[in-house]
Amino acid sequence: MKLIDGKAVSEELKNALKQDVLDYRKKSGRVPHLAAILVGDNPASKAYVGNKVRACEQVGYKSTLVKLDDNITQARLLEEIRKLNEDPDVDGFIVQLPLPKHINETEVTLAIDHKKDVDGFHPVNFGRMAQGMPAFLPATPYGILLLLERYNIETAGKHVVVVGRSNIVGTPISILLSRKSKSGDATVTLAHSRTKNLADVVRLGDIVVAAIGIPGFITEDMIKIGAVVIDVGINRVEDESAPKGSRLVGDVDFEPVRGKSSYITPVPGGVGPMTVMGLLLNTFKSANKEIYS
Ligand code: NDP
Repeated sequence: MKLIDGKAVSEELKNALKQDVLDYRKKSGRVPHLAAILVGDNPASKAYVGNKVRACEQVGYKSTLVKLDDNITQARLLEEIRKLNEDPDVDGFIVQLPLPKHINETEVTLAIDHKKDVDGFHPVNFGRMAQGMPAFLPATPYGILLLLERYNIETAGKHVVVVGRSNIVGTPISILLSRKSKSGDATVTLAHSRTKNLADVVRLGDIVVAAIGIPGFITEDMIKIGAVVIDVGINRVEDESAPKGSRLVGDVDFEPVRGKSSYITPVPGGVGPMTVMGLLLNTFKSANKEIYS
């Protein structure tokens, strides 16, 4: 079993990007700029946004954090989005999810200019991605592709089983891995809560991507010997022995599954840091007008 070290890979990529940013600054006289909107004070969302801001600082980007109150109206939030859409200094921005219940997430996603949608959630980017056109790829699937490439994990002709069909992880990674392209050409099964005989389905996977949101859901008996296991889940569970009284675990029952797999991503330190990397790389592409001129 080999551990896929997302933290180390993201550090390598950040160092390379740092140099590219220096070159970009010399050439253009400006600094790539990523903004984030954070609504309310959900601790997990605050931590994710904090990581993103820190990563921007590490690679030499400018970052702006727009903090808004939990009870902000949808109209006010859309106004903030409009300001960022129109600000020529901002290359890309994200609205950290989840949003409070009174806000319509679809309306918010649609309000973001797709040319600045560095999270890759806008239907224009999603549609372009699905058709193999240049697009901002959703940050987590993008990060997973980078990890597979970095570890030379062949996907062509492999059977990939993705468990979870969200718009931000499961569905886009299933599309990307089945596309006729590098890190694609796989035969993909997309499983979800209505899948029958799920364990039998997952056992067919040469590569298993778990994006469910249930701690330790993928157990050792569901994994074929030698499978590659990508654990996207981030779940906080109680643990009295941990300093904070809790710790983060993935959707995979890590220790037993680790013994059966050829490669596996840990949680934390696997897919998570690569999601931030996907976001940074999309922002750099935006600054360079690589996707949209
Ligand atoms: P969602 O809640 O949007 O989707 C969960 C998916 O899991 C759904 O498709 C659901 O099926 C499926 N599912 C739920 N229960 C079962 C079950 N019993 N059997 C089979 N499938 C089931 O989650 P996300 O995709 O947003 O996130 C998934 C996990 O990944 C979470 O832990 C999240 O925190 C983490 N995450 C991590 C990121 C990272 O950077 N590492 C980034 C984004 C998310 P159905 O559609 O039928 O309801």
